[in-house]
Amino acid sequence: MMANFYCKWCGNKYSSVSSLTMNSCSRNPEGKKHELYEGSEKPQYTCKCCGNKYSSLSSLTMNSCSKSPTKKHQPAL
Ligand SMILES: [Zn+2]
Ligand SMILES: [Zn+2]
Repeated sequence: MMANFYCKWCGNKYSSVSSLTMNSCSRNPEGKKHELYEGSEKPQYTCKCCGNKYSSLSSLTMNSCSKSPTKKHQPAL
């Protein structure tokens, strides 16, 4: 079974944690690389700052959030 690993800042999908953390992320405000989203795959992802729900991590992280310190929604685990 293939597992998927997602970046918590941009929602990009990788097949391994090492390839995820090796690649650079344009949306990470704290560093230059993708960072692992440690929650499980879900049908809906909730922003931990405002509670908005999105059907994918990429659409959640793409949209701006007025309550988030980074100005983008951040996924709850
Ligand atoms: Zn990323
Ligand atoms: Zn939000």
